[in-house]
Amino acid sequence: MAPPRRPDDDAALARKRAAYFRGYYERHKAEILEKNRKWGAEHKDRLKALRQARRAQTAPPEPAACVDCARPVPHGPRCRNCHARHRYATDPDYRARRLASTRRWLERRAGG
Ligand SMILES: [Zn+2]
Repeated sequence: MAPPRRPDDDAALARKRAAYFRGYYERHKAEILEKNRKWGAEHKDRLKALRQARRAQTAPPEPAACVDCARPVPHGPRCRNCHARHRYATDPDYRARRLASTRRWLERRAGG
């Protein structure tokens, strides 16, 4: 049975392999690139699909935007302003509550 390998051995082996493949690439660079170009020319559709897949993977996630004014929002479908406007327009209880609150606030401010 082979003795257990130490991490140093693996690192040394990896360096050795990397050096081998680097040397191989340097010696055969022209042929390798020619072969890659030929493959690319023969598989344009595949190349396009691969490129699109890579772009889709690395593209940053679309930032959320308010559905009404398109301003960026941290969460929810609407920004603060549009949320309030939407509730006023669609929720009669909310509207009555807020208008009463605003009326009280105006009276208090007027010193009443
Ligand atoms: Zn908005």
